[in-house]
Amino acid sequence: MERILITGGAGFLGSQLCSFLLDQKKDIICTDNFFSGDKENIRHLFSHPYFELIRHDIIHPLFVEVDKIYHLACPASPIHYQYNAIKTVKTNVMGTINMLGLAKRTQARILFTSTSEVYGDPEVHPQPEAYWGHVNPIGLRSCYDEGKRVAETLMMDYHRQNNVDIKIARVFNTYGPKMAVKDGRVISNFIVQALKNEPLTIFGEGRQTRSFCYVTDMLQGIIALMEQDDLRGPINLGNPKEHTILELAKKIIHMTGSSSPIIHKPLPSDDPVRRCPDISTARKKLGWEPRVGLEEGLEKTIRYFKEKLNLNPRK
Ligand code: UDP
Repeated sequence: MERILITGGAGFLGSQLCSFLLDQKKDIICTDNFFSGDKENIRHLFSHPYFELIRHDIIHPLFVEVDKIYHLACPASPIHYQYNAIKTVKTNVMGTINMLGLAKRTQARILFTSTSEVYGDPEVHPQPEAYWGHVNPIGLRSCYDEGKRVAETLMMDYHRQNNVDIKIARVFNTYGPKMAVKDGRVISNFIVQALKNEPLTIFGEGRQTRSFCYVTDMLQGIIALMEQDDLRGPINLGNPKEHTILELAKKIIHMTGSSSPIIHKPLPSDDPVRRCPDISTARKKLGWEPRVGLEEGLEKTIRYFKEKLNLNPRK
């Protein structure tokens, strides 16, 4: 039986990846330091005979024997990764060195979840993998985006120097059930605010764009990449349908039947103006593309947050 390590396994994506791979009869070792991960996300797996949880911070080495590593660990929401910026850099740099060392010793294939933030505030639109990005190296987002860029460098160098079997996924904005109420990102913020009939907080005028990928689509993309044998460089994974933040706010107000007003708050520094993935490589090489449209995904996510906030009329 294949033994798989998932770092950040109690997080939004990691926890659903644990469930998904357990269903595929894999033996799972999940690590998390519970900074932004939550035990609640994996509690239902505790009694599974092939699920093992290790409370561990990957900035320290980890000694386990595995066949594959999904290296997801790192807070991904700006409020969380900026809370302790130095720790975010350590997680990406030291954490990735530790996981690559583990992959090297055990000859495990390792997949790293990088980010669309490596493109910074992009001057090329939509963003193909070949674009090098437009990143502020000293800004508030740099602990995350430069951290992820160094981690990509490490992945490529361990491959070139030590022949480690690597995969790099550049994950664009992803949403869905299991996001934390306090995740701080736009979809969870807007849905929670709408359900509580509180004002929706648009940062800036709301003309900035993002492209939102539903969680199950993203997981399928990540797994397809892990199972692909000859891809080395980074691969964009995301939904190529682009929306403005104002459009998103209006849609969520409409779908929740909320009486919330929209208010505007200052735009955080270095907030990218436009973001949209060019997924032609993933389409061609993985035969993958997202299937869940925004409305369908939002419907499921709204239902999840209703239950989470105890607003479900059936309860
Ligand atoms: N945003 C917003 N209101 C919020 C949270 C975020 O208007 O309550 C904006 C944010 O400024 C950004 C976009 O929504 O332009 C996406 O933000 P998020 O934090 O979800 O992701 P990221 O900026 O990392 O893409």
